[in-house]
Amino acid sequence: MKRKRKKLILIIVILLVLSIICFSSVIYLNKRKEPNDNMNNNPTKDNESIDNIDPLEVALRNETYFLERNLSRYLSYAKENPDIETKEIITRVNTNLDYAFYTHDIDSNLDDDLLIIVNKYHKLPSDYEPELVEMDSKYVNWGKRYMHPTAYEHLVEMIEDASKEGIRLFSVSPYRSYNTQKSLYNNYVASHGQEEADTFSARPGYSEHQTGLAVDLNTTDENAHFENTKEGKWLQENAYKYGFILRYPQDKEYITGYIFEPWHYRYVGTEVASYINEHQITYDEYYAFFIEK
Ligand SMILES: [Zn+2]
Repeated sequence: MKRKRKKLILIIVILLVLSIICFSSVIYLNKRKEPNDNMNNNPTKDNESIDNIDPLEVALRNETYFLERNLSRYLSYAKENPDIETKEIITRVNTNLDYAFYTHDIDSNLDDDLLIIVNKYHKLPSDYEPELVEMDSKYVNWGKRYMHPTAYEHLVEMIEDASKEGIRLFSVSPYRSYNTQKSLYNNYVASHGQEEADTFSARPGYSEHQTGLAVDLNTTDENAHFENTKEGKWLQENAYKYGFILRYPQDKEYITGYIFEPWHYRYVGTEVASYINEHQITYDEYYAFFIEK
């Protein structure tokens, strides 16, 4: 009987100690939580930061090709053009279309090597000459012609593979020097006027042909509708496998600044060409997002 009582007292004491520990822990934890709770209950703090995020900015940030460095330009372009959707605002600002062609010159970054960009915003120095090799006469329509060795190597591979399928490809215009481009452009300006000449001919220093990485294939005659020939179609389906992209696609004239040129291909390597082929973007968009710093 005495032992039983002792045991009962021991249990009561243990329970009492445990309850005291529990009770003080709860009080301690509650005290610690208090300052945070007060902050959360503060009606200004959190609500204010939510209200401060512009829904337009949120929409822009959610776009695939959003670039932090262009944020203020996106916002002002969007304010000036409220009917344009955010995806399109990103495309236009990334490719500098918030500035008129030839009004915002940047020197092409020569360190970009095979991925160098030349367009109506990026220009080459007049004395710029790339590494060049003379092309075999069987790949050109006439005269001595030159290309960048890497681009040429892949062009030959492409032309040879195409010929196995009964497709005959040849170059009508690969590398062009600054001076060749200058006389070509000036002739077009004389015959068509500058405004029209600018839609199909690059000003000297702004031509991709000066890089040695671009090539016009078979024709440069718009009326030939090269895109509908079996050669033109073969190129559209296969060029990317050899690292070439259609540089001035249809419906992208407003980005590239050039009419659809189904004959003009640019070497960028197979990895970049595959991405561009898959995502159907221009090189100008690719460059802005992946290469330009
Ligand atoms: Zn061309």
